[in-house]
Amino acid sequence: MKIKNFYDIVVVGSGPAGGMTAMTASRKGASVLILERDREVGIPVRCAEGISLTSLIKFFEPDKKWISKYIEGAKLYAPNGEAVLMPSSAIGKGVILKREIFDAHICNIAVENGAEIITNADVFDLIKKNGKICGVKFRHFNKEKIVRTNLVIGADGPESRIGRLAGLKTFSQISDIEPSAQYVLTNLKIEHKFSHFYFGKKIAPGGYAWIFPKGENIANVGIGVRADKCNGKNAKEFLDEFVSRNLPNAKMISFITGCVPTGMTLKKITADNIMLVGDAARQVNPVSGGGLSNVLLAGKIAGNVAADAVKMNDFSNKFLKKYHKIWMKEKGNQQKLLHKLKEIFFDFSDEKLNDLTTHLNQIPSEKLTQFQLLKTAIREKPSLVKELIRYYL
Ligand SMILES: Cc1cc2nc3c(=O)[nH]c(=O)nc-3n(C[C@H](O)[C@H](O)[C@H](O)COP(=O)(O)OP(=O)(O)OC[C@H]3O[C@@H](n4cnc5c(N)ncnc54)[C@H](O)[C@@H]3O)c2cc1C
Repeated sequence: MKIKNFYDIVVVGSGPAGGMTAMTASRKGASVLILERDREVGIPVRCAEGISLTSLIKFFEPDKKWISKYIEGAKLYAPNGEAVLMPSSAIGKGVILKREIFDAHICNIAVENGAEIITNADVFDLIKKNGKICGVKFRHFNKEKIVRTNLVIGADGPESRIGRLAGLKTFSQISDIEPSAQYVLTNLKIEHKFSHFYFGKKIAPGGYAWIFPKGENIANVGIGVRADKCNGKNAKEFLDEFVSRNLPNAKMISFITGCVPTGMTLKKITADNIMLVGDAARQVNPVSGGGLSNVLLAGKIAGNVAADAVKMNDFSNKFLKKYHKIWMKEKGNQQKLLHKLKEIFFDFSDEKLNDLTTHLNQIPSEKLTQFQLLKTAIREKPSLVKELIRYYL
């Protein structure tokens, strides 16, 4: 397929962040090219595919084509096995997506609005003229190609090469990177109405294990851990132990590994002619490791600002950093608070987690909101109140 030499915007990566940015900017009239390294949008799926229904409907009308299952609540398991149920009447419904179809759906809307997409396109360098970014170089079926643009958007996931090439500081502390491993397992006997979260230093140090049902007997079963707390054991080893203990009859369909950036948004996510969005900008919820709702929002903000930049013909950092400002106002400060909570919560001893679960089980389940969890955390660490005041006032 023939592509043009120049686009207003080139988006690197067709995940939810890149797709949403492209969709928003193309809807506002910008010419957009998406370059995706993989053979197909959305494949392989490196995600447990869970998102709250409230978050999802802010962006899309739910469609059974890309939804595996609705979830009626979350069960949290203490290290001793005691579980507390947070029903959907208190926390809202959840959704398990079919990411391969969901990601493609977002890109399809972008394409319907005039965007173009090339898969098998691995972006390996930026083109600069007098120090100014003006395009990208990519490999397409072993051929090196170039495309010129006024604005490159790095939506290239947690390893973001684009950020590094642009000279943005993308370094993350080891404590803010969660190596993860996940199977899709079948032949399961599970309470498939709920998602399940397992905590404990021996189960998943610095993180948790999850079972997110995709159907009655099939689920995404995974684990995320903190590398610096694992004494040399890797995420897959923890996951295999978890599966043989809890799901001994399970049969494997697929296996993936990945990294979840659980730090805060990078200090700088824009520069002249460049923006970073999604995992590339570290916009994940640091406690849950969930990125979907945040990166969809970030993509929407980035796409709007990018399209405005095209209209104004202003691609300076001064103009583009409006995106960073809006993001911080909408989510960034909440993310800072959650980052603090992560440090506190995942430091709890197994005994404390057992006690907390017993305590939470004394609260009527319809009152078990996230606020209630926060209150319990404050009881354990009163200095958290100071942090809350600092971020919310
Ligand atoms: C095991 C695991 C489970 C998770 N579970 C959940 C969950 O249940 N709920 C949730 O909300 N979040 C979850 N997350 C996090 C979520 O998957 C991410 O936050 C989300 O995918 C980020 O979207 P993104 O578009 O920024 O990046 P990605 O989805 O990673 O997309 C980046 C895209 O860029 C492409 N790319 C990279 N480099 C280049 C290049 N040089 N040239 C061209 N293309 C390139 C990649 O191929 C990829 O398609 C999970 C993550 C992992 C690892």
